[in-house]
Amino acid sequence: MRLANKVALITGAGSGIGRESALLFAQAGAQVVVCDLNVVGGEETVSLVEQAGGQAVFVQADVSKAADVEAAIAKAEQAYGKLNVLFNNAGIFHADDGSVLETEEAVWDLTININLKGVFWGCKYGIPALQRAGGGSIINTASFVALVGAATSQVAYTASKGGVLAMTREIAVEFARQNIRANALCPGPVETPLLAELLSDPARRQRRLVHIPPGRFAKASDIAQAALFLASDESGYINGATFTVDGGITAAYVTPE
Ligand code: NAD
Repeated sequence: MRLANKVALITGAGSGIGRESALLFAQAGAQVVVCDLNVVGGEETVSLVEQAGGQAVFVQADVSKAADVEAAIAKAEQAYGKLNVLFNNAGIFHADDGSVLETEEAVWDLTININLKGVFWGCKYGIPALQRAGGGSIINTASFVALVGAATSQVAYTASKGGVLAMTREIAVEFARQNIRANALCPGPVETPLLAELLSDPARRQRRLVHIPPGRFAKASDIAQAALFLASDESGYINGATFTVDGGITAAYVTPE
């Protein structure tokens, strides 16, 4: 099994990519710490893992709060004795996030606090646990919007993901000799609750779809499979990577009709 004897903590595991990853990691043999602000979603993920024969525990945490994240890491070590994989995946996409000219300060602050500071707290408190375990793998969820700009802007979200990408590279370099790898996962648009409102509008959906070479949005499982690879020892020499899983969006100039 690809994650046998590994303990993985996944933030934002109560929904979408995080939930799919929890299921996949557990199926691959990991003991999973499901971390989310949303208790109902988090507990549902644990039930789904257990129904499939896997092992998981839930810990509620707001990743923008240092004390919550510190406690979540402690809970992982208490529950399973160590931490090997840290998947900083929780994030939001605010409905009022738009052009730099219109986006309110409160939207900017909330987005940066969860999407960027949340990853900072995860690494600040998670890396010592990985060190105690003799090394490990960090996966930080950025986005393809950290790589290319869009006229359909979401300035706070894009800035937060650019920060995640840059921070991940620095962490990758600093801790590599301690057997700790850090990679930034950059998904293209994924059909999850995060984008549900945006993608329910046919015009906004088509505006995005036209730029995706395979002609479909990603599924959460497409991204979870990439996370599984980055979590496992199979990716042992992959460090500091911008790991793009976007169906070729960032490779495209013109996509097929
Ligand atoms: P989702 O909305 O389905 O799941 C996000 C989860 O994060 C939810 O369970 C939510 O409760 C949790 N969460 C939100 N704020 C939190 C907080 N402060 N503390 C703890 N948990 C919190 O979204 P998703 O699409 O699965 O997104 C997961 C990650 O992937 C995010 O970082 C997102 O930015 C990124 N991403 C998503 C897409 C996409 O198109 N869906 C594309 C690129 C990157």
